[in-house]
Amino acid sequence: MIDTEMPNTPTVKLLFEDDVPGAGTGGGDIGNWSSKGKPNGSAAARNRSKTSGRCSGCSICLFLTIATVMFLAGAILGIYYFMHTYGNCIEATKKNTDSLDIHSTEASLEDEIFEQCGQLFPWKHVRLPESVVPSNYRLKLHPNLETSAIHGTVDIELKIVEETRFIVLHAQDLNLTTFTLRMGSQQVQARHLVCPRLSQWAFEVDEAFQPDSKLRLTLDYEGTIHTDLSGLYVNSHQSKSEDNKTVTISAVTQFEPTHARKMLPCFDEPSFKAVFDISIIRKKRHLARANMQLIRTEAYEDDLVLDQFAPTVVMPTYLLAVAILDGFEKVRRMTKTTLKPIEVNLYAPSDSLAGQSEFGLDTGVRALEYFEDFFDIPFPLQKTDMLALDDFAEGAMENWGLITFRDAMLLYHPNSSTEKAKETVSLVLCHEMAHQWFGNLVTMSWWNDLWLNEGFANFMEYLCVDELFPEWNVIHDFFIENFLQSMLQDGFRSSHAVSTEVIDPAQIGSIFDAISYQKGASIIQMLRGLAGKDAFRTALRKYLKKFEYSNAKGEDLWKIIQEHVTLHTTVSVTDVAETWTTQVGYPLVRVELIDGGSTLLIKDQTRFLFLEEERYANATDQWPIPVQYITDKHRSHKMSWLDPGAQDVKVPLNGPVSWIVANAASLGYYRVLYEATMYKEFAQQLTHDHTKIGPIDRAAILNDAFCFMRSGHLTAEVVMDLITYVEEGEEADRIPWVVILSNLKHIETLIGDTEMLGLFQKFERSLLLKVYERLGWDQPESHVDRMLQTDILALSCRLQLSDCTKQAQVRFHQWSHDKSSVFVDILPFVIEEGVRHGTPADWERVYREYRTAQNPSQRFMLLMALAASEDPALINRFMAMCLNPSIVRPNVLPRALGVLMQNKAAALPAWRFFRMNYDKIEALYGGTTTLLGILVKSMIENFNTQFDLDQVRAFFAARELSASQARVDQAIEMVKLNIQWRRINEKPLQQWLKKWGTKKRLVKF
Ligand SMILES: [Zn+2]
Repeated sequence: MIDTEMPNTPTVKLLFEDDVPGAGTGGGDIGNWSSKGKPNGSAAARNRSKTSGRCSGCSICLFLTIATVMFLAGAILGIYYFMHTYGNCIEATKKNTDSLDIHSTEASLEDEIFEQCGQLFPWKHVRLPESVVPSNYRLKLHPNLETSAIHGTVDIELKIVEETRFIVLHAQDLNLTTFTLRMGSQQVQARHLVCPRLSQWAFEVDEAFQPDSKLRLTLDYEGTIHTDLSGLYVNSHQSKSEDNKTVTISAVTQFEPTHARKMLPCFDEPSFKAVFDISIIRKKRHLARANMQLIRTEAYEDDLVLDQFAPTVVMPTYLLAVAILDGFEKVRRMTKTTLKPIEVNLYAPSDSLAGQSEFGLDTGVRALEYFEDFFDIPFPLQKTDMLALDDFAEGAMENWGLITFRDAMLLYHPNSSTEKAKETVSLVLCHEMAHQWFGNLVTMSWWNDLWLNEGFANFMEYLCVDELFPEWNVIHDFFIENFLQSMLQDGFRSSHAVSTEVIDPAQIGSIFDAISYQKGASIIQMLRGLAGKDAFRTALRKYLKKFEYSNAKGEDLWKIIQEHVTLHTTVSVTDVAETWTTQVGYPLVRVELIDGGSTLLIKDQTRFLFLEEERYANATDQWPIPVQYITDKHRSHKMSWLDPGAQDVKVPLNGPVSWIVANAASLGYYRVLYEATMYKEFAQQLTHDHTKIGPIDRAAILNDAFCFMRSGHLTAEVVMDLITYVEEGEEADRIPWVVILSNLKHIETLIGDTEMLGLFQKFERSLLLKVYERLGWDQPESHVDRMLQTDILALSCRLQLSDCTKQAQVRFHQWSHDKSSVFVDILPFVIEEGVRHGTPADWERVYREYRTAQNPSQRFMLLMALAASEDPALINRFMAMCLNPSIVRPNVLPRALGVLMQNKAAALPAWRFFRMNYDKIEALYGGTTTLLGILVKSMIENFNTQFDLDQVRAFFAARELSASQARVDQAIEMVKLNIQWRRINEKPLQQWLKKWGTKKRLVKF
């Protein structure tokens, strides 16, 4: 899957975006905001005993999960009042209680199962026994789109691996009508038992089955088409025509991680791979699609038809997919450079297809061709479909041969989609195509290695887009969108290891987050950097070939990479990979120059934690750390290592240097804290000639500095002095700007109610003025310049740089009369400015446009602009819209309310509205997805007083957040960090601003 990051928003919001992939249920008691999770029984589940007692009764459903995730946004800041040198990582004496544990005890799970499913149920573990494995499913499914009923028959071929008296498989929200169990032609008598807590059915016989026996289990069952975006669920599409608001209903699947069991009884774990023969019964006017190509359509009873699809390749249940579509059309293209031509189809509602399918189709084809070549393994299916859906909790899902997308992630219109939207569509397409090999062909053995799927796909999407659109320089975006984002979430005790033990569906959902995706990708980037591009690719090809149609673990990959790589240190590739993927968090490395600048001293490492209260004395976490460095005298990268436990490592530098970048190109996943004098050198170098430090290194130094200001390792003075170089207007690279703009914006929210706000905004305007004038309002040629212009102009207008406000309003009025008169990239903030300063009639005009826009990313942009009004009546109207799913889709609601919270005039009413209508909002989502958590997080994460925090806690004290708990816990930590920031930084920042204001007092902004 991929996250739900929405395009068409000013790109500087990147660091604050919320919708991160995954997240989850965690379950547990939220009363005290702890992350106490649902029982998991980790070890128990792996210890698969074969038997158990018996007893009766079962009740209580399990809550499942899903997840989209994303997380973390927010930029990064901190300053510690008393510190002038680095160091002094304020070591709190707090005991190492280790991170808020999302797992609970094995014993409690056993107890719960026993209590809820009774003694009769013969299996007591969340994970299925391995004594019986499926090889083939023949599924005949009749989903009735009018009644939402599912009737299914599934015929499962089974093989006995170990002697056993029962077959256990998953089923959730399904009712068994009849079943037969056969061995050869002989029917076997069996008892059917149910354990809803585990979503399991068992079929028990008196006489044990012997190894190598073949069985056939046929199940006739009833189920439901769901409305909570999981299992087989309802996707509705409303026509965008002003006079015809017809709604068409389709049904599509989202099974990852544990929702296949809601459509058919199955062995719903990734290692139970099998072949699926699928038939769908449908009305004639509907269109059915599945993983494989259609091979036959025949008449069925009651004027229905039955579509039969070709048998799938061997694959896990979470990749199974079907769609029964109403009102969809397709465009089609064949690949050219693949071994065999592959049919690629893009499906969308017929009124959405025109004019906006070409880019997605073309990029999908090119991505497929790229990966077949890159991995050197032919794509094994004849076709792949790509579906644009209105209702989709994720960004996209890689179902083999039937990839599903949130519409904004697939449809691109050259006149209504921004450059950012184009980049997002490309990255998402490449991500899903990478999964066709990484994840689909070779699947993680269990969800603890989810990151192998997602980290790789997240990493490979950038290589792919870089190949397809080299002029975009998208590798720079990798740094912002993966490295920085995940380091924010990973800087708290509540974080988890990349490879983390998970058992319960609730926990599985919670790891679809920035750690699995973005940190996973960053670790992979580090390993590739250490191995070298060619050796890395060779190893990947061998890995995929060796484990194709099978399952693998992280260690399987490390072993193969290790065969191709020698690291010049005492640690092996496996050591590096294992430590970085199994240990929570990341290190802070302290360095300085000694011996007159001719020696690099790598002092030590400690785990980096934002919150002082979370740090603890005698922390023992250590990592093998590659220290790749450049200096002002030596531009080529050199490498040294800081081994676990090592301190004061001296590296001779071949002559004196003024500064050193100690994690050059951000190869390693860690932060570097330099001694105080080095920051002065950096500041001088940036002012004198900033290009001497590369763009990623500039961005990393600045970003780390903002983070250290947040954590208290650096003062406001050091950080503000570092960024003033951009005042000259010479900084032309986007990523240092993204770091600066997002962090400034975050500081602004923290000091929004203080008297220094005005002066701080003056400071911001002074930083922007020259680059604003340089970039101007004409449309730049290149993709990269267009993205930078959007960021700079958006912030300039928000800061009410007078010319910006004027220009934006002129363009808003032009746009009101002629939609094509303003180029699309600047539209988001032009319309936002128009709404902010406009009349109710202007708001109405934008609203009408929102209701009729065909392009999903444009629609999203218009909705965000509507949240900018400061008129109380319109703010109320916007909030009322948010409760009407036909006007604001639940999957964009978190962002809609999040943006409203950033509107000063609306923040208090919005928070009140949210609490008053919480029950209705909760009902929109159900407990399955993490969208509620994303929403709560977007509402509260900018709070920055103890009063706010107490209010939040009081409000949620008696509320159950199930799937969304982890998100909300993260938001709480962010609020604590905001409070810490204010405590540490407010006064020093004010003093610095006063000094700066005195210097600038003659300058007019
Ligand atoms: Zn993915």
